[in-house]
Amino acid sequence: MSAAGAWARALHRKARYVIGIRSPVWCSNLIKFGLPKTKIMKLKYALYLWMTLAHLSTLAQVKALVGGTLIDGYGGKPLQNSVVIIEGERILKIGTVGSVEIPRGAEVISTEGMSVMPGLWDMHVHLMINGHSDYTHWDKTYLKLAGNVIMPSSAQQLLLAGVTSARDLGGPLEPSISVRNRINKGEIPGPTLYVSGPFIQHEPYPGTAEFRWGVKGADDARNKVRQLAKAGVDCIKLIDQDEMTMDEVNAVVDEAHRNKLPVVGHSHRPEEILRGLKAGVDCFEHTGLAAAPEYPDDIISMIKERTAQMSKGFLFWTPTVEGLYNYEYTRDNPESLDNDSWHLGLPDSIIRDIRYSIRKPGELGYFQFNPVRKPTLEKKVNQLKQAGVVLLIGTDSGIPMKFHSQSTWNELDIWVNRFGFDPMYAIRAATYWPAVAMKVDKDFGTVTEGKYADIIAVKGDVLRHISLLQDVKMVIKKGKRYK
Ligand SMILES: [Zn+2]
Repeated sequence: MSAAGAWARALHRKARYVIGIRSPVWCSNLIKFGLPKTKIMKLKYALYLWMTLAHLSTLAQVKALVGGTLIDGYGGKPLQNSVVIIEGERILKIGTVGSVEIPRGAEVISTEGMSVMPGLWDMHVHLMINGHSDYTHWDKTYLKLAGNVIMPSSAQQLLLAGVTSARDLGGPLEPSISVRNRINKGEIPGPTLYVSGPFIQHEPYPGTAEFRWGVKGADDARNKVRQLAKAGVDCIKLIDQDEMTMDEVNAVVDEAHRNKLPVVGHSHRPEEILRGLKAGVDCFEHTGLAAAPEYPDDIISMIKERTAQMSKGFLFWTPTVEGLYNYEYTRDNPESLDNDSWHLGLPDSIIRDIRYSIRKPGELGYFQFNPVRKPTLEKKVNQLKQAGVVLLIGTDSGIPMKFHSQSTWNELDIWVNRFGFDPMYAIRAATYWPAVAMKVDKDFGTVTEGKYADIIAVKGDVLRHISLLQDVKMVIKKGKRYK
């Protein structure tokens, strides 16, 4: 018998006892206090009614996903004809049709013909931007709307694309924390967020001080990290560490670790990677090194030295290739930009502004360098993979022409269909490993009894056709169905 069933039955027994033949002790006590028997009967019936309602509402919160092929996120053989019972926010039971009792009154959702899998993670998003090509204009015009319009809209778009957890790397502090908290309280829809708040760097670029904090000396670095920790960020985002002194870099990483915060570092230039590795950065972003065809030997050997030391934990890396890789395709086939999924939550005036800014995809300065960079990406990603880093799915979602509603599945698609990675490898880089990287794998990252019910489903075999992820049919986050 399922725990939900047992609980429901026990509750029913209790309710019968309350109004039952044998009057409980509290009834005779009430009589002693002089309460008339009719009043006591009324009280008993009210209590019975309340318990029955409680019982019914519990059942309403039980969902049964029945019939689909379950990919649980651990990498093993998928489970055919699966049944996943969800009670409230969590997964109660997993089994197969016929072997698992479906609690009476549960909401049954057929997943026949579908792949059922953990909700996706996107480990590199920018909720404060949404595809506009001119950052200076965007910040000046819309930064003030970050907390109430832009970030909530981005978050909702990610969630409906099957992204149930996301790491936001670089944003204004107060809006980042508040959007994350509002999502967690269930006030607005969105993925479970892990936010860094402002970038920590040598000096903010003009007009970006609200989401880029410069550091001047090691003490200042520690203070800034402490300030972020106190505000409640989930990680520290470090960039341009090759422009900082090594003392500053060490101070940032050390102070972050003292506050139990992982440090996510940029890896655009060789020196950024070397310094990051020396200081103990936990996760690197992007592939970097501009148009260089590959990582030089000294960097690869240093990465290997790091990945050889189990005591330091895994070295994570989010290569974020799809925006760059797909640029030329999008330029020549801009139809995907007309998909209105990215309009969700945005006022018409902002939609118009974004559309106008990307009306000539071939002329965007942001991507000027891209055709030269693209051929180097596959080699670099493979070098990292072979050097023992744990690759994570992340997209830089929000950069010009990259909308939150369409980014994440594209990264998996490039890994599998362009780089030839095993689909299960890509799926685990978007589910299991991100949860490990954020140290929340006890509760997230796989479809496992007891964990939060973050589950998505697509029609067909996702291990054969990874691009099915562009059309997610079901999104459940913490037991609540959003799609
Ligand atoms: Zn980024």
